[in-house]
This record gives sequence, C-alpha cells and structure tokens, in this order.
Amino acid sequence: MNEMKRNNKVRIAKYISQRGMTSKAEISSRLNLSMPTTLQNVKELVEAGVVEESGVFESTGGRKAKALSISADVGYTAGMDITANHITFVLVNMRREPVNKKRIRIPYENTYSYYGKMGELLHDFIEESGVSEAKIIGVGISLPGIVNQEEKVLLRSHALNVKNVSFKTIEHAIGFPYALENDANSAAYAELTGSENHTIYLSLSNTVGGAIYLHDKLYPGENFRSGEFGHMIIEKGGRPCYCGKRGCADAYCSAKVLQRLTDDNLELFFRKLKEGEKTCVQIWEEYLDDLAVVVSNLRMAFDCDIVLGGYVGGYLEEFLPELGRKIMEYNKFDLDPSYLRTGKYKLEAAAYGVTLKFIERFFDTL
Ligand SMILES: [Zn+2]
Repeated sequence: MNEMKRNNKVRIAKYISQRGMTSKAEISSRLNLSMPTTLQNVKELVEAGVVEESGVFESTGGRKAKALSISADVGYTAGMDITANHITFVLVNMRREPVNKKRIRIPYENTYSYYGKMGELLHDFIEESGVSEAKIIGVGISLPGIVNQEEKVLLRSHALNVKNVSFKTIEHAIGFPYALENDANSAAYAELTGSENHTIYLSLSNTVGGAIYLHDKLYPGENFRSGEFGHMIIEKGGRPCYCGKRGCADAYCSAKVLQRLTDDNLELFFRKLKEGEKTCVQIWEEYLDDLAVVVSNLRMAFDCDIVLGGYVGGYLEEFLPELGRKIMEYNKFDLDPSYLRTGKYKLEAAAYGVTLKFIERFFDTL
C-alpha cells in the first residue's frame, strides 16, 4: 500500500517535470488517478518543496486552474561532454532548464593531469553558476565512444583514440556522483525524453552515430553498440572509414565531409554554400543524396519517426524539403517524409541530455 502511494507520488513528480507546467486536473486524467489521490500527493510534494504553484492557466470560463511546476532550485545536475578538443559544460535545474553553459577548448589526453584539470573546470563552472555544490545531485559525462555504464569504463573511442579507460581511478577529480554515457545516446535523451513516439536519432557530427528510442527508453544492445548507424555500409567497397572498413555511412555523412572544404569550420561551409560557392554546392548535393540513402534505410528498418541531430543537424532544417524529395526517390512505401525532423538542441545536446538521467533518479528517491 505504502509502496503504491510512493509510486503515485513519483509518477506525479515525473509527469510535472516532463510537462514543465501542468494542472491537477490534467495530472488526474493523464495518469489515471482519482482527484483525491492527486490532491493529496500534490499537497505533499508542495510541502516538501519539490513542486510549486506558479500562476494560473488562462481559462475560457469558470475557475482558473492553478499551474504546477517543479521548484527550480530544489536541485541541479551538471553535464560534461568530452570531445577530442573541447569540454562542454551545462548546468540544469530540476525543471530541466539549462541555467548555464560553457564550452572550453582543452585537447583530450588520457592523463591524470587532464582529468585533474577537467575536475577543476567542473567545480569552477558550478561556482560561476552561483549554485551551491550541496545542491548538485550528480554529474553526467558524455563520451564519444562505447561505454560500459555499470563498470564506468570507456571501452573504446576512435575519436579520443583510447581503449578501456576506467573512470573509477579518477572519480576523486569529479567529486560528485557521476554516470557515463555515449554522446549520441546523450543527445538522443535531450531530443527524445518524454516523447510518446518510437524514434530513431541520427547524429551527424564529426562522427555519425545514433540511438534507438523505444517505449520511452534507449535500446542499448547486447554490447552497448546499438545505433552505430555510422558503420552501416552504404556503398560496397566505397570510401575508407576510420573503423577500417570501406563504404561506411560515416565516410559520407559526417560533418568532416563538409568542413574539410573550409578548414574544419562547419559554419563557414554553410556560409559559402549560401553564397553559392560551386564546390560547396556540389559536395552538399552529394551529401544530401547519401544522407537520403541512410535515412530511407533507417525508415525501412524501424518504421518510426527519425530525428536528425548533431552538428550538421543544427543546419538542416531549411534543407528538409530538398532532403525529403531525395528520400522519396528511395522509398516507395511512404506517402511523404513527414516522419523526419531536425533536433532542437545544437552544440550542447549531449552535455544537456546526459544530465536528464539524474533528474529522473532524483524523482525516484522521493
Ligand atoms: Zn566504419
């Protein structure tokens, strides 16, 4: 009985957190709880300082409903996205709102001095954000590689050029409860948490990756390697890939394919493309064509929504109609490509997404 009661409280808190703002009537109807149960639980959550009443909903008649939201200051979680040359930090409150972010150039090295510096930067970032360390519930670390979350090991990363890095030996530098996650999975959490549809996330950054989001969860695979869409072969014997094979999607659809024309500067590539620079236009045409193959293969395999994210995803919105036309040439099953959209978060998707797990866990402990 007590367990069921607690369970209702957790469900209500998570629902409010996912919705951002909601009303008692909506909670009761969406979670299928009686009004007295809803009222009692909301009262307890308000008394505990987890939920607050924040204004009223506009109403077309009758009494205006009070709006409920999570108290922003009840706790925070920090995210760190480690890449070959940068660390991106994000601080997120319990309403899932980013309250501060920062990107620092620091080339990755698998050395104690790097991890020590990483810890210092994290503590400085939290201090600058004006948040007491006592309010930090946990730190999520997003990594460009295959991660064993239970053992806290980065099993393999081509981007960082390391294998079997155990974070247990450096956890004193972090100084908070922490969790590791693959970068594409982290970005997928940012884009898809709370989404009601099954969705494939395709990450188009310096490498191509992805995630499979089913029943409101990421499908991990047996070896933590699910969603490695970058290494699906799209051309037999084609371009060499950094993984050692030929013809992988990564060799056609990573951001590197574009930015190698503009000194590794993706923004500059898109500026030149807009100016109609001939080589950029031609490479972009080819890129969209290859991307269309990947997207239509994913659609055929999973038959669900597809979100395009990563660095290139941040520029794709205005090209969706053109990409859609190309996809339709490869796919005779769908009437239109309305299952396809671009991500909401740009550079900080992975750092933001990796914090969300701690937010879920926080509500589990209520
Ligand atoms: Zn490959």
